[in-house]
Amino acid sequence: MSKKIRVRFAPSPTGGLHLGGVRTVLYNYLFAKKHGGEFIVRIEDTDQTRFVEGAEQYIFDCLAWCGLQPDESPLHGGAYGPYRQSERKPMYKEYAEKLIANGHAYYAFDTPEELEAMRKDYKTAENPAPQYDGSIRMKMRNSLTLPATEVEKLLAMETRYVIRIKVPQNETISFNDLIHHEVSFDSNVVDDKVLLKADGMPTYHLAVVVDDYLMKISHAFRGEEWLSSAPVHILLWKYLFGLDQMPQWAHLPLILGPSGKLSKRDGAKFGFPVYAMNWTDAKSKELTEGFKEKGFLPEAFINLLAMLGWNSGTEKELFSIEELIENFSIERVHKSGAKFDFEKAKWFNQEWIKKLPVSNYESIVKKCFTDKDVKIENDEYFINILELVKDRCTLLTDFYDQGVYFFKAPIQLDSEAVKSKWNNEKTDFFQDYIDKLNAIPTWNTAEIEEAFKHLAIEKSIKPGELQLPMRIMLVGGKFGPAVFEIACKIGQEETINRIKKALPIFNA
Ligand code: GLU
Repeated sequence: MSKKIRVRFAPSPTGGLHLGGVRTVLYNYLFAKKHGGEFIVRIEDTDQTRFVEGAEQYIFDCLAWCGLQPDESPLHGGAYGPYRQSERKPMYKEYAEKLIANGHAYYAFDTPEELEAMRKDYKTAENPAPQYDGSIRMKMRNSLTLPATEVEKLLAMETRYVIRIKVPQNETISFNDLIHHEVSFDSNVVDDKVLLKADGMPTYHLAVVVDDYLMKISHAFRGEEWLSSAPVHILLWKYLFGLDQMPQWAHLPLILGPSGKLSKRDGAKFGFPVYAMNWTDAKSKELTEGFKEKGFLPEAFINLLAMLGWNSGTEKELFSIEELIENFSIERVHKSGAKFDFEKAKWFNQEWIKKLPVSNYESIVKKCFTDKDVKIENDEYFINILELVKDRCTLLTDFYDQGVYFFKAPIQLDSEAVKSKWNNEKTDFFQDYIDKLNAIPTWNTAEIEEAFKHLAIEKSIKPGELQLPMRIMLVGGKFGPAVFEIACKIGQEETINRIKKALPIFNA
């Protein structure tokens, strides 16, 4: 039976959205769009102790910034809601009880102290962290060890209990992963995971299986860190709905940082973002900078994430979202971890800055200027300047340094760069050049350059030796596009003023 393609991203709203999370969204999204399917976002908030205010909205803000909009979600609605697990609480209990009725789960009444004692008592050199599993369960207080009457009494007294899966012993649990292919687990190393907690909330393990079933999910792509949970999920599928109903799994490779799995700490240590957007921790008030605020374009962010663990089989590296949808295939996702390289990430951004019309990011860049008190009065002029300097920008935030001197005179001049070769002849040259500039009737690049070159020949100075001082006068430093073009853009009066102001500084 071929099912309609329905995939889901199932984040827990516990903090900032890591780039690995966005890559999971992206692969889900690309797969869904390629196959005319649906992309669902389900909020997995059953662990109320980890709930973080604002984290859900933040996830949707990140998806909107990336342009990866879900077809169904708590915000977008849909026919399989609610899409927040906390709002589906009554649905899960029924399945947990069904498992008990079929002998695949049991009530466990152990108190936290009893569990603690178990971990201490059964600890050995070979087994330093004993789990609640097939070798231990018959030594604990649960509905498998207590007489039925006692169990009934405890339930009637509303004693706190959890429901645990009864993992079979001496079995091999296998499945076919779309990336890792045949994967097998020895059931003896799988513990009897809690399915329903004492507060009546399901754990992730029960909720993910029930919801993937009820929401008719056909393919489940998630990070490789979830691979070790797969045996429990497979057993639940087998006991509740039948393995033929199970979605096809694809466990995506880890994203690696300079030292193993990429972590938030790596970002802070090596000075690059790991979250899609700025995230402020509600408790510590600590702000972690995101790719967006660092000056990345969403097109570049998506493109670089796509290439972290996937390639098209060609040399091509720059892909628009439409091209990614067309070319994406889960078979080309790599098995091994993908190394995140911030320099490469910046290369993608630089290419996208060059590739896109500046109107795509004009408003973001404008904000960088106005935030620093630079007034933009003429939009056409502003766009013109962005066009002129875009090839020199790696991040959107670079536009400010690369372009601010078109709007106001530099505050500091790198006079050190000219001083050693500065002399009276050069001062004379610029004084006469001011007169020549004053005499230009219609201000344009060719005439500014022409006047410069003629005067240099007249005074027998190499034009090359005069251009750097002129650049420092206008820009403040050794960078920027052609110097006569800069003069043309900033205007006659401003050019002359900057030269006049710089001469005493160079002569000091
Ligand atoms: N709620 C899990 C998470 O936070 C989702 C894992 C899955 O996709 O099954 O990543």
